[in-house]
Amino acid sequence: MRAVVKPRPAPGLELQRVPVPTIGPDDVLVKVKVTSICGTDRHIYEWDEWSQATIRPPQVIGHELAGHVVEVGRQVRSVGVGDFVSAETHLPCGECLQCRTGRMHVCQNMRILGVHTDGCFAEYVKLPAAVVWKNDPDLPPAVASVQEPLGNAVDTVLAEPVTGKSLLITGCGPAGLLGIAVARAAGAFPIIATDVNDYRLRLARSLGATTTLNPGREAVVEAVRALTGGDGVEVFAEFSGHPGALAQGLEAVTPGGRVSLLGLYRSPVEVDLNRLVIFKALTVYGITGRKMFETWYRVRSLLASGELDVTPALTHQFPLEAFAEAMELMSAGACGKIVLWVDGVPAELDDVERPVREEESRVPVTVHG
Ligand SMILES: [Zn+2]
Ligand SMILES: [Zn+2]
Repeated sequence: MRAVVKPRPAPGLELQRVPVPTIGPDDVLVKVKVTSICGTDRHIYEWDEWSQATIRPPQVIGHELAGHVVEVGRQVRSVGVGDFVSAETHLPCGECLQCRTGRMHVCQNMRILGVHTDGCFAEYVKLPAAVVWKNDPDLPPAVASVQEPLGNAVDTVLAEPVTGKSLLITGCGPAGLLGIAVARAAGAFPIIATDVNDYRLRLARSLGATTTLNPGREAVVEAVRALTGGDGVEVFAEFSGHPGALAQGLEAVTPGGRVSLLGLYRSPVEVDLNRLVIFKALTVYGITGRKMFETWYRVRSLLASGELDVTPALTHQFPLEAFAEAMELMSAGACGKIVLWVDGVPAELDDVERPVREEESRVPVTVHG
């Protein structure tokens, strides 16, 4: 089969022919239709420090997917051949304290699809049946594929209710854009979004941000106060992984407010905890992965309700072979979520106008599976 492989411990990826995986009694084999690119994949492509410490080449990468089950192991009862599926990409051990107490998303022995095992930038992927998620057959494949990062956005924004609350989202990369769509679907107002990239701020508005601010030119904290009658926002969701955005958000959130942190920082961050967190009595959530499988049910309901439209965030559709072009586009920051079609982009989607690359800026990305 065709697969995008990290062939050796060095930057880059290669399209190769590799054997179709053989499955065990508890696995399923999925014919991948669509896969989407995560910040994690770009890290592996660029071969940064985290990748060097984590990835063991040769390996097929990729973890976000939608496809059809073509074979099931003899123990598998939960899914059948022909089912349209996606997958939770965190592969928990099932045996540790966290797994046994309903917190599999923070398993102590967590492995990640396409990071610790062969992934789904390929014609076929092997998955443990336990992480396979059955989709509504009518769900568009590209939307089905991004349910995994969408779950991160749901956990980040909806860690507590946001309906009728003011909200600040910092970082309008793919995850932040999905977060804006979730906030809008949930009835937050105003939804204030920040990014240093004007292309992404325009996308943010198309997904439901009511005000966008570019911290390169605008005083974010003052603007947020002005938009909230001087109070500051009740909810702050940090997607950027940029220490400056974290500091601005902690300033801009109102005392007693709630903070959710998803963005990952390149190095340890200094925060004035006394002034910005303790005396403000903030509630702070660290967000990692999706709750298994509570988040997936929430994502399903939000999509099925018709209230949540993530399609403006899916800015580019490429054939799998164009993975390198897609990675470069991500590095340039001139995109939302990029979708790769394993057997080519369907004709009706290929016509979709691709946004013009007007601005080049490096936007930090996260390493959430
Ligand atoms: Zn991902
Ligand atoms: Zn575990």
